[in-house]
Amino acid sequence: MTSFAQHNFANEKVLIRVDFNVPLDKQTFAITDDTRMTAAVPTIKKILNDGGSVILMSHLGRPKEGPEERYSLRHLLNHLIKLLSGVTVKFADDCIGEETVKKAAHLQAGEVLLLENLRFYKEEENGDTDFAKKLAALGDVWVNDAFGTAHRAHASTAVIAQFFEPEKRFFGLLMDAEVAAAEKVLHKADKPFTAIIGGAKVSDKILIIENLLERATDIIIGGGMAYTFMKAQGGNIGKSLCEEDRLEMAIEILAKAEAKGVCIHLPSDSVIADNFSNDANTSTAPSNNIPDGWMGLDIGSMACEQFANVLHRSKTILWNGPMGVFEMSHFQHGTKAIAAAVAEATTNGAYSLVGGGDSVAAVNQFGYNDKVSYVSTGGGALLEYFEGKELPGIAAVKSL
Ligand code: AMP
Repeated sequence: MTSFAQHNFANEKVLIRVDFNVPLDKQTFAITDDTRMTAAVPTIKKILNDGGSVILMSHLGRPKEGPEERYSLRHLLNHLIKLLSGVTVKFADDCIGEETVKKAAHLQAGEVLLLENLRFYKEEENGDTDFAKKLAALGDVWVNDAFGTAHRAHASTAVIAQFFEPEKRFFGLLMDAEVAAAEKVLHKADKPFTAIIGGAKVSDKILIIENLLERATDIIIGGGMAYTFMKAQGGNIGKSLCEEDRLEMAIEILAKAEAKGVCIHLPSDSVIADNFSNDANTSTAPSNNIPDGWMGLDIGSMACEQFANVLHRSKTILWNGPMGVFEMSHFQHGTKAIAAAVAEATTNGAYSLVGGGDSVAAVNQFGYNDKVSYVSTGGGALLEYFEGKELPGIAAVKSL
């Protein structure tokens, strides 16, 4: 397979699956975070600079039954024009159909055509072959640059591959960078390798933890999921988040880690609240001795120090999931402290990969996005990559 960077796209009509699933303001439809759009620009520019033309296809949101104004990709058009300044960018009101075929056929070298939301057709998510064939007919070459949806076997992300010869399928530059970052951490990590796993539920992160037990030297567990581990070990957790049906599993994970020599770090103390609210009364307590009626909503200052010490001696760091309810100002200190520690470790030479919606939101919010080695655009996709699964969007490009 020739790489995207080596291929010359002159005079080719290149159909790119991008992930333009950006958040929009509910009233004005203004883009509130354009990271996913800016991330696709280098791929688009490379093709245009070669003398090719570009057809962009993406989903946006989760439309239920057909077209919905709030999920129209037209809301992204002006911003795309701004990002590609000087380039002619056209819009097609439909992602397939006669008009769209015409617009694609008339597209000149150096021009871009943005298609309407793929998910206005249920065939997209169903992975319908006829629908994929219609999309494929619009271009000469297919580029998958949508890492964020690479874990879905949808028409435009995977099924479409069969309509292009192997030498007409490519990963875009973003996809290349995402895969390289994930591969580095998964298979080429310098040790000590610390994974920080946070967020609400153990059940969502079981598979990733199990896979990491084979690779990491240390696993830091924070956020709501830490309390299931505390309770499983006989601790009092008050009314903290707990998955009763996962207590046994938590014990099994701890035992497996011990057998494999992986160090699991749980937060020694917590910031506790008498309510799930930023206005609640707060205090601190050992994470395994939280009074009745109180809940742990962030890691405490001792835990911050404990975790920072582990991170400072790490050479590779993977971070998925916040340490507390960082959306509320009184419970964001732990997540902020961990972001700072990851940044410091990176400055001192560690390789750090941050991925998964909420941890990415946190590093962005606290201004550490350019102080870590790589911030992934993939939430679910990155998680599945680290669970050891083959992603359909990646397999499809590689398949013969
Ligand atoms: P996830 O999507 O599983 O990574 O979880 C992210 C969510 O977990 C965020 O919305 C956090 O507010 C939430 N979270 C983190 N720590 C806690 C906690 N101690 N109690 C309740 N929710 C938490």
